[in-house]
Amino acid sequence: PATTLQDIIAHAKEYGFVFPSSEIYDGLQAVYDYGQNGVELKNNLKNVWWKAMTQLHDNIVGVDAAIFMHPLTWKASGHIDGFNDPMIDNKDSKKRYRADQLLEGKAELLTNAGKEDEANALLAKMGKLLGDEDLEAVRELIISENIVCPVSGTLNWTEVRQFNLMFSTKIGSVADDSSTIYLRPETAQGIFVNFLNVQKSGRMKVPFGISQIGKAFRNEIVARQFIFRMREFEQMEMQFFVRPGTEMEWYNKWKETRLSFHKAIGLPAESLKYHDHDKLAHYANAAVDIEYKFPFGFREIEGIHSRTDFDLSNHQALSKKKQQYFDPSIDPETNKPYGNYIPYVVETSVGADRLFLATFCNAFTKEMVGEGDKQKERTYMKLHPALAPVKAAVLPLVKKDGLAELGQEIANSLKSSFRTVYDDGGAIGKRYTRQDLIGTPFCIAVDYETKDDNCVTIRHRDTMEQERVPISELKERIGKEVAV
Ligand code: ATP
Repeated sequence: PATTLQDIIAHAKEYGFVFPSSEIYDGLQAVYDYGQNGVELKNNLKNVWWKAMTQLHDNIVGVDAAIFMHPLTWKASGHIDGFNDPMIDNKDSKKRYRADQLLEGKAELLTNAGKEDEANALLAKMGKLLGDEDLEAVRELIISENIVCPVSGTLNWTEVRQFNLMFSTKIGSVADDSSTIYLRPETAQGIFVNFLNVQKSGRMKVPFGISQIGKAFRNEIVARQFIFRMREFEQMEMQFFVRPGTEMEWYNKWKETRLSFHKAIGLPAESLKYHDHDKLAHYANAAVDIEYKFPFGFREIEGIHSRTDFDLSNHQALSKKKQQYFDPSIDPETNKPYGNYIPYVVETSVGADRLFLATFCNAFTKEMVGEGDKQKERTYMKLHPALAPVKAAVLPLVKKDGLAELGQEIANSLKSSFRTVYDDGGAIGKRYTRQDLIGTPFCIAVDYETKDDNCVTIRHRDTMEQERVPISELKERIGKEVAV
């Protein structure tokens, strides 16, 4: 049977990858903690991304901006006025819903009943009303479509209200309106406000990029699907500054580069696709998502957006500080330098947690092994060796006769090169299984012959094939495979 999201959630918890946050208090909705293996996998993903998006480019550098930013940042970015979801409350059940999702639910019912045309008409009407921000008409549509509250079963709806997704708090000791600040809903703005700092201090020449990995916060109304949609999550973003007029060329280049990245870390081509946006966000002139086929369907893992000069222009207007770049390169049409302009931006933005979930779902493997009556199911995590939380496990066949000490010595000699664990508890078959379940690519068995021939047996996770290797070659052999 196909893997379900429930299988994934259970495996992630049981083997120390992801736990519900503050679970002893029954958890906090849409907030999760990464466990001992999860943090390793996530760090590995972040390192691979960082390397691909900075180290491998001469013209991309990183920053690590603060989560708190001046409140005008969010005025300029459009988040104070526009980062909203339309909400409606049921007066009887006191439950709150996203108005668009109630209507989408109805459309889904119509589609399932074979009334696809009606469903499409409903969605089109909804799209138009939401686009016009005609919230009263959205409410009327919900009532005329007879959409009742799933809890109370009644049509007793309030008006539709816009609900801002940013978390706010107060800074400093005086709690008046002027002290309201926000937890950043995206990391991008920390890059934009530092555009000139980096450009000048690094003597960067357009086109160039700035990368950042960091936490972002959104008070998501409908938080579902495990770590796919969280209220606290992590983004890996890169803003690429280009000369106006060249943005589509870069947009297409990044679109391809980013898809190749996902394939290179092991996501299969058939589980990935582009999804072009029909309706563009207020800041974009072109946008595409890279989607991964999760157990619940194809969903966005990364967005690539051509953001024009929207952000830098608005920051210039609100801060009254010029956000211009002087381009000394020669325009072949005029034979003069391009001169001053506000650069255009192409952004690549991927959620570290969504990439984690995609990688985790893809790695989760159940297979039948053995012949005839001896056939049994085997579960393992087929992670790229560079991403696996533990790279090698040293397993002495038995604890006695000096094999434990020898094993520990080997583990100690490897652990400064890559993450190595030592395990001598229980039958060797059980120990292999434990490593399979967290995706360790190499198990190193130490047996009686090791004392004579100075060789160990490497057992490969995916094929379960075994090979005899000199101890002196382990570091190099395994090191090569697990390198980022
Ligand atoms: P969605 O439509 O799924 O809400 P979005 O289009 O709002 O996502 P962006 O604003 O483009 O997302 O953010 C870029 C990336 O950040 C997304 O591709 C996703 O990987 C990640 N991301 C956004 N919101 C969340 C969230 N609530 N939980 C986890 N990751 C998120």
